[in-house]
Amino acid sequence: MNEIEEYCKIIINKYNLPISMPNIEINYKRHRIRGTAMYNGTLIISDCIFEDKSIFKNTIRHELAHFAAYTENGFGHGKTFKKWAKLMNVKETNFSYTRKKWFHFSCECGKKWKARKKIKIKCTCGKLLF
Ligand SMILES: [Zn+2]
Ligand SMILES: [Zn+2]
Repeated sequence: MNEIEEYCKIIINKYNLPISMPNIEINYKRHRIRGTAMYNGTLIISDCIFEDKSIFKNTIRHELAHFAAYTENGFGHGKTFKKWAKLMNVKETNFSYTRKKWFHFSCECGKKWKARKKIKIKCTCGKLLF
């Protein structure tokens, strides 16, 4: 039994999850995505989660919450997922799978802010910025 399977077993037992042990696949390439809970019961885990113990734990909890939500037809990060995630003490319920980076803006007047997109912004001082 590998480290991932061991932790899955602990969490499944601890929270009495209505799921069986997922089939685990490790992905060595796809680093932007930490984990994917496939509807067919396969858990795909990126090898980058081994770099940090808390990421490792949280990613597995997060994905197991998906499997638990699937049993109630809960997809994505909706209400059913959130219910399980809360119960299972998942730290990040919607983490950076495809999270876009922030663009930082600043104006000559000193005001700073950030946005998900590069957009035309009018500063409170009246200056138009890009
Ligand atoms: Zn998720
Ligand atoms: Zn300004």
